[in-house]
Amino acid sequence: MADEMQINPQRAKQLAENLASITSRINAANKSNRNIRLIAVSKLKPATDILALHRPSQQEQQPLHTHFGENYVQELLEKSRLLPRSIRWHFIGGLQSNKCKQLAEQVPNLWCVSSVDSEKKCNELEKGRKALLEKDDKVEKLRVMVQVNTSGEESKSGVEPGDALALCKHVVERCPHLELIGLMTIGAIARSKATTPETENEDFVALKEVREKVAEGLGWEEDRLELSMGMSSDFEGAIKMGSTEVRVGSDIFGERPAKKDAVVVEKG
Ligand SMILES: *Cc1c(COP(=O)(O)O)cnc(C)c1O
Repeated sequence: MADEMQINPQRAKQLAENLASITSRINAANKSNRNIRLIAVSKLKPATDILALHRPSQQEQQPLHTHFGENYVQELLEKSRLLPRSIRWHFIGGLQSNKCKQLAEQVPNLWCVSSVDSEKKCNELEKGRKALLEKDDKVEKLRVMVQVNTSGEESKSGVEPGDALALCKHVVERCPHLELIGLMTIGAIARSKATTPETENEDFVALKEVREKVAEGLGWEEDRLELSMGMSSDFEGAIKMGSTEVRVGSDIFGERPAKKDAVVVEKG
């Protein structure tokens, strides 16, 4: 378990510095002083990297960082069993319907699923969280975000912009153990690479438009819906356009290994 894991002090120092640097870049880009959540995307990285950032630092009682993002169900299940319950996990990867129930039921500290893109997946997450809440009434509802395919690329998951409202309504009206908190996009890689401080990324413009329509359709204030947009290559531009959540992996943890080479527990 967590207290038996060996953390390399040099690696821990490097990770803390990387995190601090991202945090200060976020603050500098955040001209309107909104609350912006940083998800440290730890997919394919060992559990010790996460623990290094989640341990309380020497000066403070609070852990350095709490929100971590993962893309693969099996990897998240393994890490969540090894690591402290105080971590707030985000599932941000492509979702498969047949794994949704397990995900929602077996990870009590799964804080949000950001990649919801079909009614069927919502229904399976709903079943899983309902089952968990029947065993443990201290668990929270499972937050979800609807992923929108703003770039029109066939390879990307997410609902079409025009279908986002219907799916959001489904969550609000039919899934009492889920809580809709926002919309997420990944966007086209090419556009994110081309985003400079002067240009507005079209994917982020599109997600904002979807939010307007969804909020109107639900009769909600717009700011009840978060915008999860921005990754290592484009988070500053995303923040300027109103992002409330950025998902940063490689700029904190470094390049990722190939999936086949990734290990959750490193052998000493
Ligand atoms: C991997 C991933 C990220 C992090 O990407 P980096 O470029 O490493 O910051 C963010 N969001 C999603 C959905 C991802 O799959």
